[in-house]
Amino acid sequence: MNVLELKNYMEDLVMQQMDAVIAANHGVCTCEQCRHDIAAMALTILPARYVVTPRGETYTRIKALEQQFSVDIMMALTEGINTVKKYPHHKETGV
Ligand SMILES: [Zn+2]
Repeated sequence: MNVLELKNYMEDLVMQQMDAVIAANHGVCTCEQCRHDIAAMALTILPARYVVTPRGETYTRIKALEQQFSVDIMMALTEGINTVKKYPHHKETGV
């Protein structure tokens, strides 16, 4: 029996695009806490895309979804970044 994995592709895509979107938005903190806050907010906005898949066989389908949702992900990440800028979960900005 194969080892199956339940996976939200959207999570991978958000993490993949995060660095590029953060780089385009000056003044946002990039610490572990803020990055997770940004990802959490983006993933709350975006539709979940759960699939059951054998481990390691996700790449091709991720590529297809990446093209389909690229703009949505960018917008959701920007939204998350703006919220974290306004309401960081910690005092020091680290910028
Ligand atoms: Zn931070």
